[in-house]
Amino acid sequence: MTLTTLLQLVSAGLIAPEDAPGLAPVAETFRVAVTAPMARPELAAQFVPSLAELLTRAEELADPIGDHAHEPTPGLTHRYPDRVILHATQTCEVYCRFCFRRESVGASGHLPEEALTAALNHIAKTPAIREVILTGGDPMVLSPRRLGDLLARLAAIPHVDVVRFHTRIPVVNPARITEDLIAAMDIRPAVWVVVHTNHPAEITPEAAAALRKLSRAGVPLLSQSVLLKGVNDDASTLETLFRALIANRVKPYYLHHADLAKGTSHFRTTIAEGQAIMAQLRGRLSGIAQPTYVLDIPGGHGKVPIGPSYLAQEADRWQVTDPKGHRHAYADVTRGDVQPPAPAPILAP
Ligand code: SF4
Repeated sequence: MTLTTLLQLVSAGLIAPEDAPGLAPVAETFRVAVTAPMARPELAAQFVPSLAELLTRAEELADPIGDHAHEPTPGLTHRYPDRVILHATQTCEVYCRFCFRRESVGASGHLPEEALTAALNHIAKTPAIREVILTGGDPMVLSPRRLGDLLARLAAIPHVDVVRFHTRIPVVNPARITEDLIAAMDIRPAVWVVVHTNHPAEITPEAAAALRKLSRAGVPLLSQSVLLKGVNDDASTLETLFRALIANRVKPYYLHHADLAKGTSHFRTTIAEGQAIMAQLRGRLSGIAQPTYVLDIPGGHGKVPIGPSYLAQEADRWQVTDPKGHRHAYADVTRGDVQPPAPAPILAP
């Protein structure tokens, strides 16, 4: 059963009875939903309301990554020329307390037909769009029938090559990964799934089975995680998570620096702390288990890698730092630097 009230969280032992009344304003501001596999002490901080959410810092934003600054039609974000984000629903299976879309997710129901048609028309008349990203709310909360209908309409647009799901469903409610859902995903455009997961305890045997179903169906699997203070801000926790992901055929893709969403400062690390964790992972994990540490620049200016950097320029050479922290000089030698052999003398006949 999904826990949606403070009383249920008290009954599950996730909050103390005496704390519940004080948390009522928090739960009213941002919905509560904790599925059974997530109702565990080591995962609670991601889903259980906290008084710290009532503290909004001056730099925090209602729309930290600028979804609405690039919205040609309601429910559609068109930030980069070749891809769009389609918010087919605002509903999620769980509500994460650090979510950068916490101001917009939580409403029940899917995008109204009129808005969906307008969004699909925008995609159809824009040949530069090659990829459609279905995300926040969670697109996999839609029924296989509704999802199948949406995917068929996207597949009918010839220039759409890729449909990418961003979802927490395989870990927070793996029972939703049914054969019907997988059949609905079998369309002409390549369907990719990016699983959002932050802690190794989320990769339960049931989650592993759901991931196996997807990979057996030929769906490429990537993951995204958010670096969260008190949840996964240490190299050992992330190492265990990334090892579990690659063991389940999921390539760790991005580790996000936590966004400037309102009331989430208690989850944020500094960038220097994130870089130090990434540097530790560089020496401990194989390349296929390494995500890229990224920041969504506040205001909708795009997402960029934020290090750590292993390269510094010095006059005519580079200084390269190895995974143990030792520095090495490296000089570029290109074909143009090599002296060509002298031409052979022309001998008189
Ligand atoms: S959009 Fe993703 S991160 Fe945000 S509440 Fe929903 S599941 Fe959690």
